Amino acid sequence: MKRREFVRSAGLASLAIPLARCGLAVRRSLRRPNILFIMADDHASQAVGCYGGRLNRTPGIDRIAREGVRFDNCFCTNGICAPSRAVILTGKYSHLNGVRDNAVAFDGSQTTFPKLFQAAGYETALLGKWHLKSDPTGFDYWNILPGQGDYYNPDLIEMGAKKRVAGYVTDILTDIAVDFLEAPRTESKPFLLMLQHKAPHRNWQPAARHMAMYDTTEFPEPPTLFDDYATRSRAAFEQEMTISEHMTLDSDLKLGPPPERLDEAQRAAWEKAFGPKREAFKKANFSGQALVRWKYRRYLQDYLGCIAAVDESVGRVLDVLDRTGLAENTLVVYTSDQGFFLGEHGWFDKRFMYEEALRMPLVMRFPGRIEPGATNGDMVSNLDFGPTFLDVAGQGKPAPMQGRSFLPLLLGRRVAGWPESVYYHYYEFPAVHMAKRHYGIRTKRYKLIHFYHDIDAWELYDLEKDPRELRNVHADPAYAAVRLGLEAELSRLQAFYRDSDALSRIFIDVDKKK
Ligand code: CA
Repeated sequence: MKRREFVRSAGLASLAIPLARCGLAVRRSLRRPNILFIMADDHASQAVGCYGGRLNRTPGIDRIAREGVRFDNCFCTNGICAPSRAVILTGKYSHLNGVRDNAVAFDGSQTTFPKLFQAAGYETALLGKWHLKSDPTGFDYWNILPGQGDYYNPDLIEMGAKKRVAGYVTDILTDIAVDFLEAPRTESKPFLLMLQHKAPHRNWQPAARHMAMYDTTEFPEPPTLFDDYATRSRAAFEQEMTISEHMTLDSDLKLGPPPERLDEAQRAAWEKAFGPKREAFKKANFSGQALVRWKYRRYLQDYLGCIAAVDESVGRVLDVLDRTGLAENTLVVYTSDQGFFLGEHGWFDKRFMYEEALRMPLVMRFPGRIEPGATNGDMVSNLDFGPTFLDVAGQGKPAPMQGRSFLPLLLGRRVAGWPESVYYHYYEFPAVHMAKRHYGIRTKRYKLIHFYHDIDAWELYDLEKDPRELRNVHADPAYAAVRLGLEAELSRLQAFYRDSDALSRIFIDVDKKK
């Protein structure tokens, strides 16, 4: 489609709802779009082909970008599993939706975007990782993993009833999604389907067919694999997420016994894939940097093996949309609840406000509305997802939602005054991985972070000059004016989102009693 034709059709499409309300619309305009929201768990942008990833290929996900838009500056607002999910559902920051860390149960009586879709007559469904402890609300159908769930032969809780399902988790969830998409439906009952994969969450157990997929691959090493944290605060030294010390050989890197849930065939595949690695490891007797390098390589083999199944899943559901004729009227979204460290700074896991964990991959396709092959560099966040999906479906945003719809950006429009900063706040400390509490802002060029609780330390990075965040310039006089500007913007955003240091102190006391 030529650019002018595209703009014309996109303009008409966005008029569909007001026209429908005036009773003037043609039949096409009355069709409300379906939403297919696919989210992985801990899938870093560095491991997505269309983000220029040098580690792996992801043809399924890349197809969404090729036929739609890739967002290059999407950030999470609290980088761990349950909090990110609660932000997405409510469009509210963690301090307002209540899920500040993975230990809290979500209050399902809150307004969520799926509830609003359900109330508007959509068929709403949720599959896979939920992780919010309370039962899902706002879904006509849900079939979820308990907690983190298992990779092999997982238990699933279908509308409250738990049962064990044979197979590999990513494939099982995809099968259920395919059944849902292929079920007969009428245009008067569009759907919202949230397909939320467990993969590639720790401890990275691939499907049998992908266990040896990367056996001969030499992965490029991140330049910061042996970061000495020279200019950072204590927070970087006192975390517990290093590949060298905190990644376990037995469980994470599969030198120990296989998981108990494996059936005979899976056990044989496991032994065939990981047995030789175990023997080679014993013989090699690695230590020091050689051991870190071996662990890094083994980590990526399994992490990327898990992603291979997720990518196949995306390809399968896109094919079903084509086959059923649903593709034309369905917004397809692929994202991850946050990013992940793949050896950068010597780490795995997420939590920190540094780039690799803060960034979310986000690609979207909507034929006839989103220009194929588009990219967008505006700053958006998971806070904006709900308001955007509601807007796509012609519904308004309820007052409590703090995010803003980026539908105009999807349609390729430039929006004057679009926000140029994103606010972040992480709370889960002391806890696993020991990433200290911190908040901060990310602007297009800079990042300002304040670590607090058992520390009071600031970091400032100039991402243009120092994209790997190796030089904290907070105390550098040359950045004094920049720092003042960022501090003012941070204060403005805290007030705007109704967060404050006083509230942070209250939460420290509340969390002590948990
Ligand atoms: Ca996660």
